[in-house]
Amino acid sequence: MLDSLFKPRAVAVIGASSKELAIGNRVIRNLIDFGYKGGIYPINPKADEIRGIKAYKSILDVPEEVDVVHMVIPAKFVPMAVDDCGKKGVKHIIINSGGFSEIGPEGAAIEADFLERAKKHGIRIFGPNCQGIINTDPEYRAYCNFTFTYPEPGHISIVALSGGVAEVIHQEFSIMGVGTKIYASNGNACDITIPELIEYLGNDDGTRVIVTYVEGLRDPETFKRVATEVAVKKPVLAMKAGRTKEGAKAAASHTGGLAKEDIATDLIFKKAGIVSFNTEAELIQAAVAFATQPIPKGNRVGIITNTGGPAVIATDVLVGRGLTLPPLSANTETYLKEHLYPEASVHNPADVLATGNASHYRACLDAMMDDDNFDSIYISFVTPFFVDNVAIAKEIVAVNQKQIKPMVCNLMTNREQQAETVKILKDGGVPCFSLPGAAASALAGLVEYQQIQSREKGVVKTFTDTDKAGAEAIIGTAKATGRTMLAADEVYGILNAYNIPTADWRMADTAEAAERAAAEIGYPVVVKADAQSVIHKSDMGGVAVNLTDGAAVRAAVGKMEKTLKADDLRFFIQKFEPGGVEVIFGAKAEEGLGHIIMFGLGGIYVEIMKDVVFNLTPVSDAEAVEMISAVKGAALLEGVRGQKGVDRDGLAEIVQRLSQLVSDLPAIQEMDLNPVMASEDGIIAVDARISL
Ligand code: ADP
Ligand code: MG
Repeated sequence: MLDSLFKPRAVAVIGASSKELAIGNRVIRNLIDFGYKGGIYPINPKADEIRGIKAYKSILDVPEEVDVVHMVIPAKFVPMAVDDCGKKGVKHIIINSGGFSEIGPEGAAIEADFLERAKKHGIRIFGPNCQGIINTDPEYRAYCNFTFTYPEPGHISIVALSGGVAEVIHQEFSIMGVGTKIYASNGNACDITIPELIEYLGNDDGTRVIVTYVEGLRDPETFKRVATEVAVKKPVLAMKAGRTKEGAKAAASHTGGLAKEDIATDLIFKKAGIVSFNTEAELIQAAVAFATQPIPKGNRVGIITNTGGPAVIATDVLVGRGLTLPPLSANTETYLKEHLYPEASVHNPADVLATGNASHYRACLDAMMDDDNFDSIYISFVTPFFVDNVAIAKEIVAVNQKQIKPMVCNLMTNREQQAETVKILKDGGVPCFSLPGAAASALAGLVEYQQIQSREKGVVKTFTDTDKAGAEAIIGTAKATGRTMLAADEVYGILNAYNIPTADWRMADTAEAAERAAAEIGYPVVVKADAQSVIHKSDMGGVAVNLTDGAAVRAAVGKMEKTLKADDLRFFIQKFEPGGVEVIFGAKAEEGLGHIIMFGLGGIYVEIMKDVVFNLTPVSDAEAVEMISAVKGAALLEGVRGQKGVDRDGLAEIVQRLSQLVSDLPAIQEMDLNPVMASEDGIIAVDARISL
């Protein structure tokens, strides 16, 4: 239980220092200055007191029970000190010192050593090589951290391995005058992990929103499970670094190349219901809104403004992020015509004019809060010298305190001249932003959470008409011969074992056999070269389509024999299945996480168009349907300009069958089906490859 870490009754500092600039001094100063409610115990064999507080030679001399110990001593002394803490019955140790796994094997050995001792004593370790924690709860005011910003109590909690990023985010809240609840930055995280912290914050009543920053997930499966549970209860906002890095992995199949690097983390965020952001600014803006606002019921926003342009900027951002601006209801319109100036614009956005006063803002707020057309309210508020801005602020606060629908405010003002207005809004819990884009982005964050949480999760279907054992046998044979690329008959054998529809096919070693196979299948047919060295067949002259008779088949085989010259060359004869839209399906194994599943518009242009979407196994029915409609060219599948749409249920079924196939057969490293011919009558795969 992490309670005693965040609510310690007493804190000792092993490595307490009299030197003003030492961490062992700063931590004590922070505890004192922040008003920590428990006992503070500097441990130092040489000093009598530090910062006016009695020091002890050993942790064992401390007269009180100690819940948290800071260690600010060289790495090599840490294991012994952990043993002392064990004797003392300490519950948590925050190791601020570095010199552990982050420096290499030597440090890692010390880390393993102290961790083993800590486990024996039942001590939990926070860090090492970390900042520590802060809890602003007035009952504790625990500033067990060496940073330098004292936050106001609030409802946002921050967790991150990286102290640098955590502090940047924390600083920004402080600059904006927004309080935080708990701050935790755990550095090497050798024991207490990010998922464990998120789980704790999920149960912390004072935390309304959790903010996290991720550089890569160590235990993606646990992160996903915990985040999924917590995100249902309260918003978890995240951002990940390195999002723009495009995978330049040379891969034999398309899926690897099309999946941008570490796409898995984004997919985990999505699957877990985490709201993720591309920039720290957007993350911070949303957190500020979540800290005081209720969650909207939908994406429809009403805008109130006393100035034109900024509301236009906001509208662009809001609509760009998926919000809509419905018209005012008839009631609202009538009400506002009675209550606003005659020249005011009674629409959405509602413009009360620069001369609009407190009663005008109030009329708009009341009407929109009451109007079923709106789920949230965006306020654009510039503070002209000729109106009573304080009075306007008071009305906004009065409505905000009812917490009926969320609101954000773009407050455009001079913060010194209008200090009272600013303070009223801040104390009244109105999330204020000086830029319209920022206020709009904050509101968009609220809506995104609502949309994510209300989306249909669906169920993961298990198809029973499959032959797992048969597919496993095929893979076993390939493995036994040391091949990583499966031969065509093996690939199609596996697809057929999972009832993924494929064009009728045969294998042939000779021109005569190829002709016999073609006759069995029925013309027209396609002949394809099959050999370990032939990967992109059409590039190498290994595909001959629309062959209508035996002579054409023999000629195609003869030509391939001449040009390809592979010892293991065989021929794959397949029914020619023209027409329809060419789509692609793919799967790629992801360490510790199952497989990534891909769907997109395929064919030979797939690398150029890159119109593909991804998800993680297991893909539910609802997720599969969502994937099919999420490609940019979805309209092509729905049918355009008189063309019939394709069998989209069939496509969604293949996504699910593929998800089951790779889940059943974890040895599959990468596979893709490209193209799959999709038409209104059905779906047929005409090319596929699988690597182990
Ligand atoms: P590769 O991807 O190795 O170059 P494919 O088997 O995908 O080879 O063939 C290349 C292209 O030929 C496909 O994208 C498709 O347009 C066409 N094609 C292949 N097989 C068939 C088929 N059975 N019916 C119709 N067109 C096909
Ligand atoms: Mg292909």
